[in-house]
Amino acid sequence: MKIMQNRMDYGFEKYQQEFEEKALSVLRSGRYVLGDEVSAFEKNFAAYTKAEHCVGLASGLDALWIAVRLLGIGPGDEVIVQGNTYIASVMGITINGAVPVFVEPDMYCQIDADRIEEKITQRTKAVMVVHLYGHVADMDKIAHICRQHGLKLIEDCAQSHGALYKGKMTGTFGDAGCFSFYPSKNLGAFGDAGALVTNDPRLAEEARIFRNYGSEKRYYNKVVGANSRLDELQAGLLNVRLAHMEEITQERRRLAQIYSSSLHHKDITLPQERRDTHSVWHQYVVRTHRRNQLIKHLADRDIGTLIHYPVPPHLSDAYKYLNYRPGDLPLTESSADTVLSIPLYTGMKQAEQQYVIDCINAFT
Ligand SMILES: *Cc1c(COP(=O)(O)O)cnc(C)c1O
Repeated sequence: MKIMQNRMDYGFEKYQQEFEEKALSVLRSGRYVLGDEVSAFEKNFAAYTKAEHCVGLASGLDALWIAVRLLGIGPGDEVIVQGNTYIASVMGITINGAVPVFVEPDMYCQIDADRIEEKITQRTKAVMVVHLYGHVADMDKIAHICRQHGLKLIEDCAQSHGALYKGKMTGTFGDAGCFSFYPSKNLGAFGDAGALVTNDPRLAEEARIFRNYGSEKRYYNKVVGANSRLDELQAGLLNVRLAHMEEITQERRRLAQIYSSSLHHKDITLPQERRDTHSVWHQYVVRTHRRNQLIKHLADRDIGTLIHYPVPPHLSDAYKYLNYRPGDLPLTESSADTVLSIPLYTGMKQAEQQYVIDCINAFT
């Protein structure tokens, strides 16, 4: 049996007819940019997250850098972010000329809330929380720190669509929640797409203007903006998937629970869900010091795995200019050396998952 780490065709096939009908209807509408599907998606996604406003954008990275910029963060400012994130989180900061200040992860692979305050300086403007792997950071503590120190709070929710902290949606704890709808995300489009949610009407308004060359009214430009519109076809397809989000999340939670109760190996540490949170299991990430052997053991049995992520941003070539060295963030680096994402996807069949479980448990 061949098992891929992720597969998006199952997720398409599950709602194939609805997707195809929606795609045809958009194609036939003659309206391809900022039409009814985008407006409907913004309304639907705001309702889903219980945020007051949602602005559709072209990607998750755009949501991050546009949020950072519109919150007034720029050259010389510092933004606190976790070390073990996908590099796009960090680029959302550095595109604006601001400086990322890295914090080590806690046992749930999220920013360690107890290590944030020691990183705050005169130049700190914001904390960017990344709800990595679909898990949830310690939001009470983090929101409290941000309030006490007058810092903006930005959430990178590219992996946490629908994840809850004490019943409240990730993305709604601070100034802006930034979402990606890249195809492999829990709420995936069929190409690039993203959005920002916020309860701040001014930020929503500015983002709406910024994404469209800084113009509110056609050919009258208020500010130098960008072209970062969510396109109509993607919005239409996202409306289809969003209507099934409850089911999609429940399925991932069920698959994760089966892994957690069935995987048993002395060299493999399983992921855990923080108390009072509801993870959406974007990835099921185990940790092992025998990672290369485990990858090979599974590959020999036709099971795909991925490492999220092998190079932490502070040691990436892209960020050489920040002058970090190996050893500067030991927990982040040990995470990069030991994490492994095993197969988990919408439509995963029971026999597929059982095969993965059997092969992992038989690892010697
Ligand atoms: C995918 C991802 C992004 C970037 O989203 P794009 O839509 O690919 O630009 C940002 N942050 C995290 C944590 C991600 O997983």
